[in-house]
Amino acid sequence: MSIGKPQTSGQMMAQPLLISDLIEYAASHHAQQKIISNRLEGDVHSYSYSDALVRCKQLANALLALGVEKGDRIGTLAWNGYRHFECYYGISGIGAICHTINPRLYSEQIEYIIQHAEDSYLLIDACFLPLLEPIVDRLTSVKGIIVLIDAEQMPTSSLNNLINYEELIAEQDDQLIWPDLDADSAACLCYTSGTTGNPKGVLYSHRSTVMHAFASRNPDALNISSDTVVMPVVPMYHVSAWGIPYIAPMSGATLVLPGQGMAGKDLYSLIDFAKVDLMLGVPTVWLGLIEYLKENNLTIPSVKTVGVGGAASPKVLVETLDKDYGIYLLPIWGMTETSPLATLGAKKNAMSEMTDDQRYDIQTSAGKPMLGIEIEIFDENTHLPLKHDGKDRGLLRVRGPWVLSSYYKLDKADCFIEDQQGKIWFDTGDIATIDKDSYLRIVDRAKDVVKSGGEWISSIDLENAAQGCEGITEACVIGVKHLKWDERPILFVVAQDKKLEKETIYQFLGDKVAKWWLPDDIIFVDSLPHTATGKLQKRTLRDQYWNYLIT
Ligand code: AMP
Repeated sequence: MSIGKPQTSGQMMAQPLLISDLIEYAASHHAQQKIISNRLEGDVHSYSYSDALVRCKQLANALLALGVEKGDRIGTLAWNGYRHFECYYGISGIGAICHTINPRLYSEQIEYIIQHAEDSYLLIDACFLPLLEPIVDRLTSVKGIIVLIDAEQMPTSSLNNLINYEELIAEQDDQLIWPDLDADSAACLCYTSGTTGNPKGVLYSHRSTVMHAFASRNPDALNISSDTVVMPVVPMYHVSAWGIPYIAPMSGATLVLPGQGMAGKDLYSLIDFAKVDLMLGVPTVWLGLIEYLKENNLTIPSVKTVGVGGAASPKVLVETLDKDYGIYLLPIWGMTETSPLATLGAKKNAMSEMTDDQRYDIQTSAGKPMLGIEIEIFDENTHLPLKHDGKDRGLLRVRGPWVLSSYYKLDKADCFIEDQQGKIWFDTGDIATIDKDSYLRIVDRAKDVVKSGGEWISSIDLENAAQGCEGITEACVIGVKHLKWDERPILFVVAQDKKLEKETIYQFLGDKVAKWWLPDDIIFVDSLPHTATGKLQKRTLRDQYWNYLIT
């Protein structure tokens, strides 16, 4: 035994875990497990992880041949499908950044996001070409647009120099040694519009993505193994489909990608064909599926679990899935800023001893944090932590290795808060309670946005648009409960012109905001409640009008 300086560092290999390791692992050790995709071409495509790896490498080689370098942003505008999966690996694997763009945003936002990210190439589904046509001249960083479609189905478009994806990768070598990257290198970029002002970019690293996947596949989280057949119905443009395209290869699970088919009928066919047992998505999607199943007297016996996040899990959904289909609704809370999964309510043996109401109470919570994620609620005024008694409600803050530490290209943001012990927290903008068993419940939202069917509507943008209508003195938008879309906006108007009609306001807004942003109702009031500092007191209105659209 030698005596000397104590050894303080561990002596293990400093091998970074990279996104390319996930697909290499799946192709080597679960080679024949499948990725099954509903194609936009209209058929179902199925291939193995080893087939996928070959094409990921061909794409990587194609991008290198186009001059793509480490750190370059490559945008994608695509549904859930095998080619989009190949983009995830082909782009990040060579150290470039896979920037997934949400096609549901209106064109000014898409333009802003592409310009802000300075994407050099875009890989896009043919159906999204019309989104680019009006803005393409202003996309100064974009050198080429690669269309994710069979060569013989290339559409006609006013866009010049489109490149066909299949032709591009077909000429490429399928051999490639992935470059050694630092695990902290940027891998993916996703903008959130769940914020006031312009959308903000969240830049994930290889380390955060792989750690998020490791934690999320655990039994007390999503419980994904090589026996699982998992279908993310949450789109791949929304926080990497909650990480499933990374978790599935890491676990050797069968991955089922529903393409554009989010309607009940399409989902049912794919579930039945692939024998899906775990699916994930926002509540609205499941309400549509259940409606279709009921209308057609169908069942989905392969499905054991439905992960629900992006909005609170309604009790009626928990109960219907349980009683009518024997499916466990697994509640989830997370954000674009948290990669996104942070808290989950996994099924526990103890639940078999509980009454339905006790179980449903847990299932309508947002679950408990995974190891790595810390959550805390803080008093709005004192900024001190509150009691975990299920009653105290406070500002929900979160920290952890897959929580962002700053927004992309934004030096300062007031959502990073230091507590009394010097720990930095990310302030989520949600108001929550935490109970003695650590179950989180989101009870309100401090941020001024409305979430409709999993997509954000900015109240402020809508108010500003309405304010421009002649005769309106003040406008105020709040989100209220909606049975299908979870929340919908309603607009309050103080009108100087007492003859102003709803129809005039709807017409005025028609060409200023996306159609799905239009408020479900416009309510004329004499005045609006304000705080002492003159801000609109939206919480009072939300309390008063929460059930306005469902009563
Ligand atoms: P996004 O960044 O678009 O994924 O949206 C994240 C936001 O969705 C959160 O800050 C919440 O406001 C909302 N959200 C997500 N999950 C839940 C949940 N389980 N219950 C209530 N709200 C949720």
